[in-house]
Amino acid sequence: MSLGEFELIERYFMRPARRAALGVGDDCALLQPRPGMQLATSADLLLEGRHFLSTVAPERLGHKALAVNLSDLAACGAEPLGFLLSLALPAAEPDWLERFARGLFALADAHGCELVGGDTTRGPLAIHVTVFGEVPAGRALLRSGARAGDDLYVSGTLGDARLALEAWRGRVALSGEAFEATRVAMEQPQPRVTLGVALRGIASSAIDLSDGLVGDLGHVLRRSGAGATLQADALPRSAWLAAQPPEVQRLCTLAGGDDYELLFTAAPAQREAVQAAAAATGVPVTRIGTIEAEPGLRAVDAQGRPVPLALSAFDHFRP
Ligand code: ADP
Ligand code: MG
Repeated sequence: MSLGEFELIERYFMRPARRAALGVGDDCALLQPRPGMQLATSADLLLEGRHFLSTVAPERLGHKALAVNLSDLAACGAEPLGFLLSLALPAAEPDWLERFARGLFALADAHGCELVGGDTTRGPLAIHVTVFGEVPAGRALLRSGARAGDDLYVSGTLGDARLALEAWRGRVALSGEAFEATRVAMEQPQPRVTLGVALRGIASSAIDLSDGLVGDLGHVLRRSGAGATLQADALPRSAWLAAQPPEVQRLCTLAGGDDYELLFTAAPAQREAVQAAAAATGVPVTRIGTIEAEPGLRAVDAQGRPVPLALSAFDHFRP
C-alpha cells in the first residue's frame, strides 16, 4: 500500500488501550472479562455490493461494520468489551480511511467498545469485525428459550432499511426527505445494546433482526421447538413506511432485512418488566404476537384474517 501497512494502522486505528490489558500493536490483544462473566463473541463480514452500496459514506460504513456486530451482542444481553477489525482495501486512501475511522470510533466510544487489533491487506473492499463482550455466566439470552404462551416483542420500527433499498433500486417512489430518513436506517443502524442488557432475566429468548422478521423468527421457533402467530398490522413502522401501499408495508416489515432491532419473547407475567426495560433504555418495544405450541408461523391482520407469509405474495418486487 502506498501509505505503508504499518503506517496506516498506526495513523488510523491505533489508540491507547483502555480496558484491554493489551491493545493494538502486539501479536495478540489481551482482554480480561470480569470475574463470573462469560466471554460473548461474534463476527460479521461486509462485502461491497452484497452488504453495502458503493455509494455509502465512509463514516456510515465504519459505523455499520461495528453496529451489526454490537447488535449480535445485544441479542445475547452481553456488554461490549472490544473488537478486531480486518480490512481488505483496494488502495490506502487517507480521506476514506479518516472518515471510515471517524464513524467506526464514534460508535465504538458510545458503547465503550475498544479496537484491540485486526489485519490489513490489499484487495477488493471487505470489512470484517469480530466483537467481544461479557455476560454473567449462564444468563445470556438465547434463541432457544421461547415457550408456548410467551408474548412476542420487537424493538423500534421495522422495514425502513428495506424501504430505502427498494427506493434506491427504483422499485418504490419516495420523496427526497423520506429517502434520506430511511437511508439512515439502512446505513446507520443503532444496535440495541442497553435494551439487550436490560432484558436479561426478563426475556425468555432473543435474536437480532438482520435477515427479516419472518426468517429470523423462524430461527427462534426452530431452536425453541415452538410456533407463533404474528399480528401483521401491529408491526411497528415509521411514518415513511406507513405512507406506502399495503403490499410494500407487508414486504418491508415481514421480510425487510437489515433492521437490527431485537426480536424477543417474554412470559405474560413480565409485561410490566418489559415496558420498564424499554422506558429505562429509551427504546420503544411493541408486542407483535404470541408463541404457541403448534409448530410453524402464522400471521393475522387486525380483523383476525390470515395474512399470507409466502414471499411469492410480493411479486410486485421481482425485477
Ligand atoms: P501479524 O503479523 O501478527 O498478523 P500485523 O503485522 O498484521 O500482525 O499487525 C500488526 C498489529 O496491528 C497487530 O497488533 C494487529 O492486531 C494490528 N492491526 C492490523 N490491522 C489492524 C486494523 N485494521 N485495525 C486494528 N489493528 C490492526
Ligand atoms: Mg497480520
